Amino acid sequence: MEHSVIFDERVFRVQKQRPTRIGIGSDLHRLENGGGFMLGGLFVESDFSVIAHSDGDVLLHALTDAILGALGEGDIGELFPDTKEENRNRPSSDFVKAAVEMMNRAGYRIGNVDAIINLEKPKLGSLKPEMKKSLASLLGVSPELVNVKAKTAEQTGAVGEGKAVSAEVAVLLFRRECENES
Ligand SMILES: [Zn+2]
Repeated sequence: MEHSVIFDERVFRVQKQRPTRIGIGSDLHRLENGGGFMLGGLFVESDFSVIAHSDGDVLLHALTDAILGALGEGDIGELFPDTKEENRNRPSSDFVKAAVEMMNRAGYRIGNVDAIINLEKPKLGSLKPEMKKSLASLLGVSPELVNVKAKTAEQTGAVGEGKAVSAEVAVLLFRRECENES
């Protein structure tokens, strides 16, 4: 009998069905003079806008990548190539919804989400509660499972010089049947 290593779809599936899975995502877009931009599904008033193929929402892009990463499903660029005309100016909420649908199909739910936005101006403090709600409603979870932090870059680097906005997101997923055990 040949016992060579053969990719076994069943083994792979079992590995994919771990009780919890963790993912991270990050994104950065350049800023140019303009009249505001989308961040976390909200419009942020600013003297800048984001240079991007889609609506350039770094927080939603990082969130999408974090979920895809946790599922072991690659990244947002593979799912929604920026070379495709249909993705031009597309609302980034579509990307999150697609990732959530994949998560549901794989049998996972959101455990919690932790996000960092790096932006020099404007200060986002007053927007954070609304942003939490916005992310929570896109994910179909309670806002208390979502945390949003906003930082400046102390006037250094691309973010600090007001040339870019970026975000990092960590997400924990857990299998749906484990829901009552936690
Ligand atoms: Zn992006």
